[in-house]
Amino acid sequence: MEPAVAIEGVQKRYGETVALAGLDLELAVGEIFTLIGPNGAGKTTLVRTLTGTVQPDAGRVSIGGAIPGAIDRERLGVLPQAFSPPGRLTGREIVAYYAGLYDDPLPVDDVLAAVGMAEDADRWYDHLSGGQQRRICVGTALVNDPDVLVLDEPTTGIDPAGAQQLWTLLRELGDGGTTILMTTHDMTEAGAISDRVGILADGSLVATGTPAALIGDYGGASRLVVDLRGDPSDHLPAEFPWDSHYEDGSLHVTDLPAERISAVLAELDDRGIEYTSVAWTEPTLRDVFLAVADWEDEQRRPTRSTVPEAS
Ligand code: ADP
Repeated sequence: MEPAVAIEGVQKRYGETVALAGLDLELAVGEIFTLIGPNGAGKTTLVRTLTGTVQPDAGRVSIGGAIPGAIDRERLGVLPQAFSPPGRLTGREIVAYYAGLYDDPLPVDDVLAAVGMAEDADRWYDHLSGGQQRRICVGTALVNDPDVLVLDEPTTGIDPAGAQQLWTLLRELGDGGTTILMTTHDMTEAGAISDRVGILADGSLVATGTPAALIGDYGGASRLVVDLRGDPSDHLPAEFPWDSHYEDGSLHVTDLPAERISAVLAELDDRGIEYTSVAWTEPTLRDVFLAVADWEDEQRRPTRSTVPEAS
């Protein structure tokens, strides 16, 4: 099947600044793909090439086979990072205005309910909280029931419960065949809703994969930290059967599957070593982000793009 979104060799420079360094990416129909990466990585520039507001210097972008400028606007929904509708309109009026731009929009009440704004829909936009305003903005991007949704930081400012509600909505849209490309700085969000995550750094996708694959490849090891009572270092034997060390009054065991925690604690009990607390942590996408995106030495990144001059 033709990809829903195809990005081939896209480059964009602003003077000396390379915003996109020859980027390739294909999204399958119904896929949710989340771009993460440090500020200035090129996320918004990439989003803008998809919406046709930035023209690449080289390379090609197509959405459902059409270039961004030529795509049937009934099929594309866009939420820019900075979007401020008139403050003296109500949420309902704003969504209704956008509904009026399309031939076959969703019912405005359904959209308001979907973004959790049914109750406050008749308040002026200016009088809504930042998170409520952002929900209305998300509603304007959904109102044409698009095939492809491009969302630049959709949940910024939305409280955790509201964000969770939007994740459910976006997952439902993805499961229903809507292709979603979004950006976020919220690693929990990226992990919760994405089929694939791409880490963008200096205009290149330096790692792409399912959240689980990225965590497996770059997240590092799980870790058990047991705070010990007193200083039992002298009877923590060298032959302790796990990858472990003793530091600042705690026993640290790395790369320990959750089901082995009880075995470690039983071993401590057998040796009469008392402990006051136990914490086990698994690597998350946050660890992946810190490991991959913030590498100062670009040579150590898993992939590296060269940046030819755009012709
Ligand atoms: P992100 O969204 O990941 O923070 P951006 O796409 O906004 O990154 O920016 C990528 C790089 O391009 C940054 O170095 C930024 O300063 C630069 N840039 C973005 N837009 C412009 C512009 N209109 N003029 C000049 N430089 C820009």
